[in-house]
Amino acid sequence: MRILITGAAGFLGSHLCDRLLADGHEVVGMDNFITGKPENIAHLAGNERFSFIRHDVSNYIHVPGKLDAVMHFASPASPNPASPVGYPNLPIQTMKAGALGTHNTLGVAFANQARFLLASTSEIYGDPLEHPQKETYWGHVDPIGERSVYDEAKRFAEALTMAYHRFHGVNTAIVRIFNTYGPRMHVDDGRALPNFIQQALRGEPLTVYGDGQQTRSFCYVDDLIEGIVRLLNSEVHEPVNLGNPQEMTIAQFAEEIDQLVGGGAGLVYQKEKMLKGDPLRRQPDITRAREWLGWEPTVGLRDGLERTIPYFKEQLGLQ
Ligand code: NAD
Ligand code: UDP
Repeated sequence: MRILITGAAGFLGSHLCDRLLADGHEVVGMDNFITGKPENIAHLAGNERFSFIRHDVSNYIHVPGKLDAVMHFASPASPNPASPVGYPNLPIQTMKAGALGTHNTLGVAFANQARFLLASTSEIYGDPLEHPQKETYWGHVDPIGERSVYDEAKRFAEALTMAYHRFHGVNTAIVRIFNTYGPRMHVDDGRALPNFIQQALRGEPLTVYGDGQQTRSFCYVDDLIEGIVRLLNSEVHEPVNLGNPQEMTIAQFAEEIDQLVGGGAGLVYQKEKMLKGDPLRRQPDITRAREWLGWEPTVGLRDGLERTIPYFKEQLGLQ
Protein backbone atom coordinates (compact mmCIF):
# COMPACT_ATOMS: atom_id res chain seq x y z
CA MET A 1 0.00 0.00 0.00
CA ARG A 2 0.96 3.65 -0.40
CA ILE A 3 0.01 5.36 2.85
CA LEU A 4 -0.19 9.03 3.91
CA ILE A 5 0.58 9.54 7.62
CA THR A 6 -0.08 13.01 9.03
CA GLY A 7 1.77 13.86 12.26
CA ALA A 8 4.59 11.63 10.95
CA ALA A 9 7.31 13.47 12.92
CA GLY A 10 5.49 12.96 16.21
CA PHE A 11 5.80 10.21 18.81
CA LEU A 12 3.14 7.83 17.47
CA GLY A 13 3.35 8.92 13.82
CA SER A 14 7.08 8.16 13.61
CA HIS A 15 6.62 4.67 15.11
CA LEU A 16 3.81 4.08 12.65
CA CYS A 17 6.10 5.09 9.75
CA ASP A 18 8.75 2.62 10.98
CA ARG A 19 6.28 -0.22 11.32
CA LEU A 20 4.52 0.28 7.96
CA LEU A 21 7.85 0.61 6.13
CA ALA A 22 9.04 -2.59 7.84
CA ASP A 23 5.84 -4.28 6.61
CA GLY A 24 6.87 -3.36 3.04
CA HIS A 25 4.55 -0.40 2.41
CA GLU A 26 5.37 2.97 0.87
CA VAL A 27 4.88 5.88 3.30
CA VAL A 28 4.32 9.58 2.64
CA GLY A 29 4.87 11.45 5.91
CA MET A 30 3.35 14.89 6.51
CA ASP A 31 4.03 17.27 9.40
CA ASN A 32 4.50 20.96 10.18
CA PHE A 33 6.71 20.26 13.26
CA ILE A 34 4.48 22.27 15.59
CA THR A 35 5.01 19.67 18.33
CA GLY A 36 6.97 16.99 16.44
CA LYS A 37 10.69 16.80 15.70
CA PRO A 38 12.67 16.17 12.48
CA GLU A 39 14.95 13.86 14.57
CA ASN A 40 12.06 11.39 14.95
CA ILE A 41 12.14 10.63 11.22
CA ALA A 42 15.76 11.55 10.39
CA HIS A 43 16.69 7.84 10.19
CA LEU A 44 14.19 7.40 7.32
CA ALA A 45 15.89 9.91 5.03
CA GLY A 46 17.67 7.27 2.92
CA ASN A 47 14.66 4.96 2.61
CA GLU A 48 13.38 5.00 -0.97
CA ARG A 49 9.89 3.94 0.16
CA PHE A 50 9.63 7.01 2.44
CA SER A 51 8.96 10.59 1.37
CA PHE A 52 8.09 13.64 3.43
CA ILE A 53 5.96 16.75 2.84
CA ARG A 54 6.25 19.66 5.26
CA HIS A 55 2.70 20.96 5.43
CA ASP A 56 0.02 22.19 7.85
CA VAL A 57 -2.96 19.85 7.52
CA SER A 58 -5.34 22.73 8.31
CA ASN A 59 -4.67 23.90 4.75
CA TYR A 60 -5.73 22.12 1.56
CA ILE A 61 -3.66 18.95 1.09
CA HIS A 62 -2.23 17.84 -2.23
CA VAL A 63 -0.31 14.57 -2.44
CA PRO A 64 0.77 13.59 -5.96
CA GLY A 65 0.07 9.97 -6.97
CA LYS A 66 -2.42 7.35 -5.81
CA LEU A 67 -2.86 6.63 -2.08
CA ASP A 68 -4.32 3.43 -0.63
CA ALA A 69 -4.64 4.66 2.95
CA VAL A 70 -4.68 7.95 4.87
CA MET A 71 -3.88 7.94 8.61
CA HIS A 72 -4.64 11.24 10.35
CA PHE A 73 -2.42 11.58 13.45
CA ALA A 74 -1.56 15.29 13.26
CA SER A 75 -2.65 17.13 16.42
CA PRO A 76 -1.04 18.58 19.52
CA ALA A 77 -1.72 15.93 22.17
CA SER A 78 -0.42 16.94 25.59
CA PRO A 79 -2.90 18.23 28.21
CA ASN A 80 -0.31 20.22 30.18
CA PRO A 81 -1.00 23.99 30.24
CA ALA A 82 2.56 24.66 31.43
CA SER A 83 4.09 23.01 28.36
CA PRO A 84 4.72 24.86 25.09
CA VAL A 85 3.63 21.70 23.24
CA GLY A 86 0.51 21.29 25.39
CA TYR A 87 -2.83 21.85 23.68
CA PRO A 88 -3.99 24.47 26.23
CA ASN A 89 -1.18 26.62 24.77
CA LEU A 90 -2.08 25.73 21.18
CA PRO A 91 -5.87 25.94 21.41
CA ILE A 92 -6.67 27.23 17.92
CA GLN A 93 -4.11 24.98 16.22
CA THR A 94 -5.55 22.01 18.12
CA MET A 95 -9.09 22.75 16.99
CA LYS A 96 -7.92 23.36 13.42
CA ALA A 97 -5.92 20.11 13.24
CA GLY A 98 -8.96 18.17 14.53
CA ALA A 99 -11.57 19.99 12.45
CA LEU A 100 -10.00 21.38 9.25
CA GLY A 101 -7.22 18.74 9.25
CA THR A 102 -9.75 15.93 9.49
CA HIS A 103 -11.85 17.52 6.71
CA ASN A 104 -8.82 17.84 4.43
CA THR A 105 -7.50 14.32 5.10
CA LEU A 106 -10.98 12.82 4.62
CA GLY A 107 -11.11 14.67 1.31
CA VAL A 108 -7.83 13.06 0.27
CA ALA A 109 -9.13 9.62 1.26
CA PHE A 110 -12.41 10.18 -0.64
CA ALA A 111 -10.62 11.33 -3.80
CA ASN A 112 -8.31 8.29 -3.66
CA GLN A 113 -10.98 5.74 -2.57
CA ALA A 114 -8.49 5.02 0.23
CA ARG A 115 -8.92 3.50 3.70
CA PHE A 116 -9.02 6.36 6.26
CA LEU A 117 -7.94 5.97 9.88
CA LEU A 118 -8.52 8.71 12.45
CA ALA A 119 -6.39 8.91 15.59
CA SER A 120 -9.00 9.73 18.21
CA THR A 121 -8.57 9.62 21.97
CA SER A 122 -9.93 8.45 25.31
CA GLU A 123 -10.45 12.19 25.97
CA ILE A 124 -13.66 12.01 23.95
CA TYR A 125 -15.12 10.25 27.04
CA GLY A 126 -14.20 13.33 29.13
CA ASP A 127 -14.36 12.77 32.89
CA PRO A 128 -16.29 9.52 32.45
CA LEU A 129 -19.36 8.54 34.45
CA GLU A 130 -19.15 4.94 33.18
CA HIS A 131 -16.30 2.66 34.07
CA PRO A 132 -14.45 1.05 32.33
CA GLN A 133 -15.14 2.98 29.14
CA LYS A 134 -16.79 1.03 26.33
CA GLU A 135 -16.99 2.47 22.82
CA THR A 136 -20.79 2.72 23.24
CA TYR A 137 -20.38 5.28 26.08
CA TRP A 138 -21.17 8.83 24.85
CA GLY A 139 -18.88 10.63 27.27
CA HIS A 140 -19.02 13.45 29.82
CA VAL A 141 -17.25 16.47 28.37
CA ASP A 142 -17.35 20.12 29.42
CA PRO A 143 -17.63 21.91 26.03
CA ILE A 144 -15.88 25.06 27.30
CA GLY A 145 -13.46 23.56 29.85
CA GLU A 146 -9.61 23.66 29.78
CA ARG A 147 -9.44 20.41 27.82
CA SER A 148 -12.36 21.15 25.52
CA VAL A 149 -10.26 22.34 22.57
CA TYR A 150 -8.84 18.84 22.28
CA ASP A 151 -11.86 16.81 23.37
CA GLU A 152 -14.36 18.64 21.19
CA ALA A 153 -12.04 18.76 18.16
CA LYS A 154 -11.68 14.98 18.36
CA ARG A 155 -15.43 14.51 18.89
CA PHE A 156 -16.06 16.68 15.81
CA ALA A 157 -13.40 14.68 13.92
CA GLU A 158 -15.18 11.42 14.79
CA ALA A 159 -18.55 12.85 13.71
CA LEU A 160 -17.07 14.09 10.41
CA THR A 161 -15.40 10.72 9.81
CA MET A 162 -18.73 8.91 10.27
CA ALA A 163 -20.44 11.49 8.00
CA TYR A 164 -17.92 10.76 5.22
CA HIS A 165 -18.46 7.04 5.78
CA ARG A 166 -22.26 7.23 5.76
CA PHE A 167 -22.73 9.94 3.10
CA HIS A 168 -19.77 9.37 0.77
CA GLY A 169 -19.12 5.68 1.51
CA VAL A 170 -15.49 6.31 2.53
CA ASN A 171 -13.87 3.24 4.11
CA THR A 172 -13.16 4.80 7.51
CA ALA A 173 -11.81 3.62 10.87
CA ILE A 174 -11.52 5.37 14.24
CA VAL A 175 -9.04 4.39 16.95
CA ARG A 176 -9.60 5.78 20.45
CA ILE A 177 -6.11 5.79 21.90
CA PHE A 178 -5.60 5.63 25.68
CA ASN A 179 -2.38 6.87 27.39
CA THR A 180 0.61 5.48 25.52
CA TYR A 181 4.32 5.74 26.30
CA GLY A 182 7.70 4.74 24.91
CA PRO A 183 10.80 6.11 23.18
CA ARG A 184 10.27 9.37 21.21
CA MET A 185 7.52 10.59 23.51
CA HIS A 186 7.91 14.20 24.64
CA VAL A 187 10.29 14.24 27.60
CA ASP A 188 9.19 17.58 28.98
CA ASP A 189 5.52 18.00 28.16
CA GLY A 190 4.67 17.74 31.85
CA ARG A 191 2.68 14.51 31.67
CA ALA A 192 2.84 12.04 34.54
CA LEU A 193 5.18 9.46 33.01
CA PRO A 194 7.88 11.85 31.70
CA ASN A 195 7.72 13.91 34.88
CA PHE A 196 8.08 10.88 37.14
CA ILE A 197 10.92 9.28 35.14
CA GLN A 198 12.87 12.55 34.99
CA GLN A 199 12.34 13.30 38.67
CA ALA A 200 13.40 9.77 39.66
CA LEU A 201 16.49 9.91 37.41
CA ARG A 202 17.49 13.21 39.04
CA GLY A 203 16.84 11.91 42.56
CA GLU A 204 14.02 14.42 43.09
CA PRO A 205 10.64 13.60 44.70
CA LEU A 206 7.92 12.50 42.27
CA THR A 207 5.15 15.13 42.06
CA VAL A 208 1.76 13.46 42.51
CA TYR A 209 -1.11 15.86 41.78
CA GLY A 210 -4.28 15.85 43.89
CA ASP A 211 -4.51 12.88 46.28
CA GLY A 212 -3.01 10.53 43.69
CA GLN A 213 -6.15 8.36 43.69
CA GLN A 214 -7.10 9.24 40.10
CA THR A 215 -6.47 6.25 37.84
CA ARG A 216 -4.90 5.68 34.44
CA SER A 217 -3.50 2.74 32.49
CA PHE A 218 -0.41 2.96 30.32
CA CYS A 219 0.11 1.17 27.01
CA TYR A 220 3.56 0.54 25.55
CA VAL A 221 3.93 2.04 22.06
CA ASP A 222 4.71 -1.25 20.24
CA ASP A 223 1.46 -2.77 21.52
CA LEU A 224 -0.52 0.27 20.39
CA ILE A 225 1.05 0.30 16.91
CA GLU A 226 0.25 -3.41 16.48
CA GLY A 227 -3.40 -2.67 17.28
CA ILE A 228 -3.51 0.28 14.88
CA VAL A 229 -2.07 -1.81 12.04
CA ARG A 230 -4.63 -4.54 12.69
CA LEU A 231 -7.40 -1.93 12.60
CA LEU A 232 -6.02 -0.47 9.36
CA ASN A 233 -6.05 -3.92 7.76
CA SER A 234 -9.55 -4.76 9.01
CA GLU A 235 -12.94 -3.78 7.65
CA VAL A 236 -14.07 -2.25 10.94
CA HIS A 237 -15.76 1.18 10.76
CA GLU A 238 -16.97 1.56 14.36
CA PRO A 239 -14.60 3.20 16.89
CA VAL A 240 -12.21 0.83 18.68
CA ASN A 241 -10.50 1.51 22.02
CA LEU A 242 -6.80 0.65 22.13
CA GLY A 243 -4.96 0.87 25.43
CA ASN A 244 -3.76 -1.17 28.33
CA PRO A 245 -6.57 -2.19 30.70
CA GLN A 246 -4.19 -2.59 33.67
CA GLU A 247 -5.60 0.28 35.76
CA MET A 248 -3.67 1.83 38.63
CA THR A 249 -3.76 4.95 40.73
CA ILE A 250 -1.30 7.69 39.86
CA ALA A 251 0.23 7.24 43.33
CA GLN A 252 0.84 3.51 42.61
CA PHE A 253 2.29 4.41 39.24
CA ALA A 254 4.70 6.91 40.84
CA GLU A 255 5.75 4.27 43.43
CA GLU A 256 6.47 1.79 40.63
CA ILE A 257 8.72 4.25 38.77
CA ASP A 258 10.43 5.37 41.97
CA GLN A 259 11.29 1.75 42.82
CA LEU A 260 12.38 0.86 39.30
CA VAL A 261 14.63 3.88 38.78
CA GLY A 262 15.78 3.89 42.40
CA GLY A 263 15.61 7.65 42.81
CA GLY A 264 15.04 7.26 46.54
CA ALA A 265 13.40 10.65 47.12
CA GLY A 266 9.85 9.23 47.32
CA LEU A 267 6.60 11.01 46.45
CA VAL A 268 5.39 14.54 47.15
CA TYR A 269 1.65 15.30 46.96
CA GLN A 270 0.71 18.57 45.24
CA LYS A 271 -3.05 18.94 45.77
CA GLU A 272 -3.33 22.31 44.02
CA LYS A 273 -1.74 21.11 40.78
CA MET A 274 -4.63 18.82 39.83
CA LEU A 275 -6.47 20.57 37.00
CA LYS A 276 -10.20 21.07 36.83
CA GLY A 277 -11.61 18.40 34.51
CA ASP A 278 -8.74 15.97 35.15
CA PRO A 279 -10.50 12.59 34.68
CA LEU A 280 -10.73 10.73 38.01
CA ARG A 281 -10.91 7.26 36.52
CA ARG A 282 -9.83 6.01 33.14
CA GLN A 283 -9.60 2.44 31.92
CA PRO A 284 -10.30 1.12 28.44
CA ASP A 285 -12.73 -1.71 27.88
CA ILE A 286 -10.89 -3.52 25.06
CA THR A 287 -13.49 -6.22 24.34
CA ARG A 288 -13.97 -4.89 20.79
CA ALA A 289 -10.24 -4.91 20.06
CA ARG A 290 -9.96 -8.45 21.46
CA GLU A 291 -12.95 -9.79 19.51
CA TRP A 292 -12.70 -7.82 16.25
CA LEU A 293 -8.92 -7.51 15.89
CA GLY A 294 -7.63 -10.40 18.04
CA TRP A 295 -5.53 -7.77 19.85
CA GLU A 296 -4.45 -7.22 23.42
CA PRO A 297 -1.37 -5.66 24.97
CA THR A 298 1.57 -7.98 25.59
CA VAL A 299 4.14 -5.65 27.19
CA GLY A 300 3.79 -5.30 30.97
CA LEU A 301 4.42 -1.98 32.73
CA ARG A 302 7.82 -2.92 34.17
CA ASP A 303 9.03 -4.26 30.82
CA GLY A 304 7.78 -1.17 28.98
CA LEU A 305 9.39 1.18 31.49
CA GLU A 306 12.70 -0.69 31.17
CA ARG A 307 12.55 -0.12 27.40
CA THR A 308 11.70 3.58 27.86
CA ILE A 309 14.10 4.72 30.60
CA PRO A 310 17.25 4.49 28.39
CA TYR A 311 15.58 6.92 25.95
CA PHE A 312 15.00 9.42 28.77
CA LYS A 313 18.61 9.04 29.95
CA GLU A 314 19.86 9.73 26.44
CA GLN A 315 17.56 12.75 25.96
CA LEU A 316 18.58 14.19 29.33
CA GLY A 317 22.27 13.53 28.73
CA LEU A 318 22.42 11.19 31.73
CA GLN A 319 24.05 8.21 29.96
P1 NAD B 1 2.98 14.31 19.00
O1 NAD B 1 2.87 15.75 19.43
O2 NAD B 1 4.26 13.63 19.29
O3 NAD B 1 2.65 14.17 17.46
C1 NAD B 1 1.71 14.95 16.78
C2 NAD B 1 2.35 15.39 15.46
O4 NAD B 1 1.39 16.12 14.70
C3 NAD B 1 3.55 16.31 15.67
O5 NAD B 1 4.65 15.84 14.91
C4 NAD B 1 3.06 17.66 15.19
O6 NAD B 1 4.10 18.48 14.69
C5 NAD B 1 2.04 17.26 14.13
N1 NAD B 1 1.03 18.28 13.86
C6 NAD B 1 0.21 18.89 14.76
N2 NAD B 1 -0.58 19.78 14.13
C7 NAD B 1 -0.27 19.71 12.79
C8 NAD B 1 -0.75 20.36 11.64
N3 NAD B 1 -1.71 21.30 11.71
N4 NAD B 1 -0.22 20.02 10.44
C9 NAD B 1 0.75 19.09 10.34
N5 NAD B 1 1.25 18.42 11.42
C10 NAD B 1 0.75 18.74 12.62
O7 NAD B 1 1.76 13.54 19.69
P2 NAD B 1 1.42 11.97 19.68
O8 NAD B 1 1.36 11.55 21.09
O9 NAD B 1 2.28 11.24 18.74
O10 NAD B 1 -0.07 12.01 19.12
C11 NAD B 1 -0.38 11.61 17.79
C12 NAD B 1 -1.88 11.47 17.64
O11 NAD B 1 -2.37 10.47 18.54
C13 NAD B 1 -2.64 12.76 17.95
O12 NAD B 1 -3.71 12.90 17.04
C14 NAD B 1 -3.17 12.52 19.35
O13 NAD B 1 -4.36 13.22 19.57
C15 NAD B 1 -3.39 11.01 19.34
N6 NAD B 1 -3.34 10.43 20.71
C16 NAD B 1 -2.14 10.22 21.35
C17 NAD B 1 -2.14 9.68 22.63
C18 NAD B 1 -0.87 9.37 23.39
O14 NAD B 1 -0.94 8.80 24.50
N7 NAD B 1 0.31 9.68 22.87
C19 NAD B 1 -3.36 9.37 23.26
C20 NAD B 1 -4.55 9.63 22.58
C21 NAD B 1 -4.53 10.13 21.29
N1 UDP C 1 0.00 13.97 37.17
C1 UDP C 1 0.68 13.91 38.38
N2 UDP C 1 1.93 14.44 38.45
C2 UDP C 1 2.58 14.99 37.38
C3 UDP C 1 1.89 15.03 36.13
C4 UDP C 1 0.61 14.51 36.06
O1 UDP C 1 0.15 13.41 39.39
O2 UDP C 1 3.72 15.43 37.54
C5 UDP C 1 -1.36 13.40 37.10
C6 UDP C 1 -2.38 14.25 36.35
O3 UDP C 1 -3.01 15.17 37.25
C7 UDP C 1 -3.36 13.18 35.87
C8 UDP C 1 -2.50 11.95 35.66
O4 UDP C 1 -1.27 12.20 36.37
O5 UDP C 1 -4.32 12.89 36.87
C9 UDP C 1 -2.17 11.68 34.19
O6 UDP C 1 -1.81 12.90 33.61
P1 UDP C 1 -1.13 13.05 32.18
O7 UDP C 1 -0.83 14.49 32.02
O8 UDP C 1 -0.03 12.08 32.06
O9 UDP C 1 -2.22 12.61 31.13
P2 UDP C 1 -3.81 12.56 31.02
O10 UDP C 1 -4.15 11.14 31.27
O11 UDP C 1 -4.44 13.46 32.04
O12 UDP C 1 -4.10 12.96 29.62
